Amino acid sequence: MSLTTHADKTTVPFGSVYAAYDFGFLQLPNRIVMGSMHTGLEEHPQGPQRLARFYADRASTGLIITGGVAPNEEGRVGEGSGVLETTEQAAHHSLVTQAVRAEGGRIVLQILHTGRYGYHKKCVAPSPLQAPINRYKPTEMTSEDVLRTVKDFVRCAELAGQAGYHGVEIMASEGYLLNQFIAPRTNKRNDEWGGSFENRVRFPLEILKAIRKAMGGNFLIVFRLSMLDLVEDGSTWEEVVSLAKEVEKCGANIINSGIGWHESRVPTIASNVPPGSYAFITGRLKKEIKVPLIAVNRINSLQVAAEILSSHLADFVSMARPLLADPKLALKGKTGRTHLINTCIGCNQACLDHIFENKIAACIVNPMACHETEWPSEEKGLSGAIRVGKKVAVVGAGPAGLAAAEMAAKRGHNVEVFEASDIVGGQFQLACRVPGKEDYAQTIRYFSCSLEELGVKVNTSVKADYTCLKHFDHVIVATGVSPRMPRLPGIHLPLVKTYADILSGRCQAGPRVAILGSGGIGFDLAEYLSDAHAEKWDPASQTLSAQWGLRSQDDLVNARQHYLSAWGVDKNYTERGGLQKTPSPWFNPRRIYMLQRKPGKPGESLGKTTGWIHKASLKNAGVEMLSGVVYEGITEEGVRIVHQDVQKLIEVDTIVLATGQESQNSLYEDLKLKGMACSLIGGARLASELDAKRAISEGMRAAIEI
Ligand code: NAP
Ligand code: SF4
Repeated sequence: MSLTTHADKTTVPFGSVYAAYDFGFLQLPNRIVMGSMHTGLEEHPQGPQRLARFYADRASTGLIITGGVAPNEEGRVGEGSGVLETTEQAAHHSLVTQAVRAEGGRIVLQILHTGRYGYHKKCVAPSPLQAPINRYKPTEMTSEDVLRTVKDFVRCAELAGQAGYHGVEIMASEGYLLNQFIAPRTNKRNDEWGGSFENRVRFPLEILKAIRKAMGGNFLIVFRLSMLDLVEDGSTWEEVVSLAKEVEKCGANIINSGIGWHESRVPTIASNVPPGSYAFITGRLKKEIKVPLIAVNRINSLQVAAEILSSHLADFVSMARPLLADPKLALKGKTGRTHLINTCIGCNQACLDHIFENKIAACIVNPMACHETEWPSEEKGLSGAIRVGKKVAVVGAGPAGLAAAEMAAKRGHNVEVFEASDIVGGQFQLACRVPGKEDYAQTIRYFSCSLEELGVKVNTSVKADYTCLKHFDHVIVATGVSPRMPRLPGIHLPLVKTYADILSGRCQAGPRVAILGSGGIGFDLAEYLSDAHAEKWDPASQTLSAQWGLRSQDDLVNARQHYLSAWGVDKNYTERGGLQKTPSPWFNPRRIYMLQRKPGKPGESLGKTTGWIHKASLKNAGVEMLSGVVYEGITEEGVRIVHQDVQKLIEVDTIVLATGQESQNSLYEDLKLKGMACSLIGGARLASELDAKRAISEGMRAAIEI
């Protein structure tokens, strides 16, 4: 396998993205909207200051929508989450708006009432039905509660105006309170707020009308409307259209698309959702109304944004995580530096997973995101921090080494990279072969282009040793890992392959496969082997210079179609909620077994927000998982195990080892012995719990510490 590392630097026409939009009282310079995203800074003691910096850094986007803020106590996300009810709270928000306005940006506050998703005892809902994703049962709202909540939304909007926001977004999708009133799934009332469609939509429309009345015409109101609930008993398409027409009449300036309730069992933003998969539904609504629309979900590149906008599926595109990955995305595209955009790979690992673990969000490919004030500022002194640059060698060009080389060069050092294989990217070269992880190759593209821009010499096919490194002032050793070979009888038989053999395309697996080890890589392998398309998709056959990044447009269109039908999304919207009654069967060309020695369900180490998706897709593909096994040995026929006290032979053609890794750190030991100044990072330092989040962050920190 080979993957070229240089992106085409010709300017792609992004006219549709950079066309201004004039609301009369407010002009947006481009069509990129930074979608609402909770960062965890909202609850931090230094939150207002840190959020001010975070949003100001992203002010070159057309419009920023903040993370959701509750209009009252019952509407909070959880205990201690953000509420905007008082002028004192509004004063904190002013720090954010002033910082964004100082950078020439535009920002609106999202008003979010979580309803039955509120993770606290005071949560409320149209009807007392507990959400399947919440341990708290909501209290049914009385009619007086509803009327008071309308007032709370208005007060929140007024305070947002006082705080300097350009407007508000009313959150009425993703299964939150207003969506709970709209859909019969959660609204079982028989008063004026429930029953008929007119009654169910009354509450959100009353809020919209009241905010418009209170704030006048020169205040931007975005209404986030659930276009596809992806749960049973959600809205019908006709109801979506009727609501959108009412929202238009009641004075919203923009309608934002909502896709999927949080309790939906259809993944909507994970990396296995092909970019731009949901723009079709926004495009369908666009034919019905005139108010501008925002398309959302997995729009992670300017190419996909331009495709959506120039096909008139939407007037704006929403990007949230892509702006964590690269705060200057909009600016880079405008100035023809698309190849230098650090692309969001949709992993959720450092953003959403952190939020679910009550940690401040970050980004796997950009650890500075939401932590801007803790790192040296790129603009103010990153390069000026070093008076006399040192000669720095980085050995190993996986994510850790690439990040270290980039940061060291930005700091003003004279950097050279040595990589033993013929391509850079390390473990990301394998990851990008896994279905749904194609975008991992974009990280390799980003670092390669950035290093070239910074004048870093990258030597591939060079196994660096002391002789080659002795002239450097400092060596960063990022030599990575090698697959662990368990000590088992028969481990050297030809049917045994490592995960690297398979994912690199060096070896093919037979029709019956046993995967030893059910950690992250075991799951990746099972997805790769159970997907009939994956082995055919060869990054080498795709040019990075193609307009669509690594995938051709046809490839992307097919991937979207495949994903929507596999997960049961009904493009024809025949049922409420847009779910197919009988999703298309999954086609798995192999018989696959996944084994682990630990008892309990496999997949416990997977990410909080994505683990369920991997487990569901392998279950649908008929992969058999066995836990608590004892490996006895490998023969020509397969693997001998003891499972539930019974000896068994699992007959297979191929055994793939996904049994963890071992550090490759002998070079570091050698350089240390010879007295060289060096640092050891990433998998080479610690193979267990190896992940790109730690690798990239360690690489950057090691470079700063030189
Ligand atoms: P891992 O998650 O630590 O899993 C290694 C597997 O090998 C375990 O199932 C372990 O389970 C087994 N094992 C360990 N030593 C063994 C031995 N001597 N003999 C037999 N089996 C052994 O490591 P990984 O799968 O290689 O992944 C590496 C890192 O990448 C992890 O940190 C992972 O989180 C990350 N990653 C994550 C994802 C994802 O979240 N989707 C995907 C790829 C990689 P038993 O000991 O119970 O058999
Ligand atoms: Fe995107 Fe992953 Fe970064 Fe989240 S952590 S912003 S999903 S690259």
